[in-house]
Amino acid sequence: MDRPPIEARTRTLDALAQAPLDLLVVGGGIVGAGVARDAALRGLRVGLVDRHDFAFGTSSRSSRLLHGGIRYLAQGRLGLVRDAHREKGVLRQVAPHLVAPLPFIFPAYKGRGWPLWQLRLGVKLYDLLCAAWGADSSSALPREAVLARIPGLRPLELAGAVRYFDALTQDARLVLDTLHSAANAGAFLANYLRFDQALEQRDGYACQLYDERAACPREIRARRVVNATGPWANSIPSSQVRLRLTKGIHLVLDRLRLPIQEEAVVITEGARLLFVIPWGQRVIVGTTDTDYHGPVAEVRTEPADVQYLLSTANHFFPQAHLAEGDVLSSWAGLRPLIANPQGVPSDLSRSHSITSPRPGWWDVAGGKLTTYRLMAEQTVDRVCRSLGSEFAPCETASRPLLSGAEVNGASGILPPAFARESVEHCCAREWAFHLDDVLVRRTSWAHYHGAGSDQVDQVAGWMADCLGWTSTQRVEEVQRYLRTADWPPRGHKTP
Ligand SMILES: Cc1cc2nc3c(=O)[nH]c(=O)nc-3n(C[C@H](O)[C@H](O)[C@H](O)COP(=O)(O)OP(=O)(O)OC[C@H]3O[C@@H](n4cnc5c(N)ncnc54)[C@H](O)[C@@H]3O)c2cc1C
Repeated sequence: MDRPPIEARTRTLDALAQAPLDLLVVGGGIVGAGVARDAALRGLRVGLVDRHDFAFGTSSRSSRLLHGGIRYLAQGRLGLVRDAHREKGVLRQVAPHLVAPLPFIFPAYKGRGWPLWQLRLGVKLYDLLCAAWGADSSSALPREAVLARIPGLRPLELAGAVRYFDALTQDARLVLDTLHSAANAGAFLANYLRFDQALEQRDGYACQLYDERAACPREIRARRVVNATGPWANSIPSSQVRLRLTKGIHLVLDRLRLPIQEEAVVITEGARLLFVIPWGQRVIVGTTDTDYHGPVAEVRTEPADVQYLLSTANHFFPQAHLAEGDVLSSWAGLRPLIANPQGVPSDLSRSHSITSPRPGWWDVAGGKLTTYRLMAEQTVDRVCRSLGSEFAPCETASRPLLSGAEVNGASGILPPAFARESVEHCCAREWAFHLDDVLVRRTSWAHYHGAGSDQVDQVAGWMADCLGWTSTQRVEEVQRYLRTADWPPRGHKTP
């Protein structure tokens, strides 16, 4: 007899196959999740499939900031900054459990990076563009005040700083809660279900899928299809997206090794901005921005990436003497940027594009975590127009996002204290089928504690009970999970 989570998945697959969908969303990252939720709330019969876990791609590997993007000001992208600020405000209203306003200190150094006058002007403009989102406004900090707030910061050539506000979120949790809301509005959601191709039919498509769990093909019909596969978008048959992928990694360190206070710190390396972000008893340091040409699913943190971030951090925090052994964990992600082969990676546009290369098919690409709701609204507007029937207007800017995990605070920005119930909850109600689904994406536990933490075996045992794993499967799950750890490779313990 099947276990409840497996029975629930079978019911979803049956429902997907039973009657044609109005809309099939391919990809369960933040963009696909947003589209599915919006479409379901407007009354469409919608399904969403992901070939990996939900949020497996870029949407669990970002800097976790809801931000206007202060550096886009320097590039003159005021529209992007304004939209992102507005969306930050909307998310704060509809998902307050996932939006923690975060002050940033951006120091200016003589002869390096942005001069102080430019920073002061920049944050004033930032304030003007984001008046609506309700955080405090920016301020200027004299040199002494900066050093008092960030005692380890490099004092040499320091001119002063500005302080401004953005917000911290938990990217994968934002995806999962958006999916919970989509499911609650009637969407059918399945992870580990790969989209292979769509054959054109009268008013729609016959979509060929492959069930990665049961190792068998499936077919469903959908009147419209949205390709929201992020960095995979240009490899989907029928898609005409042209992407340029750039890789960004983040490191997690113990907060004692880089003792910042409640503010994040912005440091500059050439034209690039790097962030040192407080995360409970940890700090997140990121990110890099380099062209990537390898297989999408295999993007990893490489030693050179780690060295680059550590040496930049050591320059700005000279007493820290950070070394590879300080890195508790790391993640690497790919920015699905709209292609421009000429541009420098950090200068490429973060705007999104929605295109329809053939009738009833949309490619949605680019953009940011911060603007996902807007991308979804604009996409679903087009889908509804093409379907021609009357659908309800978009409600996602005012409807509260459900908080999927009520157990042990797992719905928030910090990992929960693990208990058996939270693991059972992830399996029974959050589509978790593998150990890494729980430890990496549902809870961020692996990033916070390092891959080899003692609780891995215990969590594997609880999941084995929920999902009926044999002892061999349980061992395989632990091995699979350890392979997902980017850095250090395995066996590393939290100090
Ligand atoms: C290093 C880095 C830092 C970032 N920091 C920020 C930030 O701080 N703030 C911000 O706003 N934005 C940030 N971004 C951008 C943001 O993370 C991305 O724009 C966003 O997550 C992209 O989401 P997505 O849904 O398009 O793609 P993904 O999250 O990659 O989702 C695509 C999904 O499609 C699935 N898929 C692929 N092929 C198939 C198939 N054949 N069938 C079914 N499913 C398939 C994948 O498994 C995946 O889950 C950052 C990006 C990077 C790389």
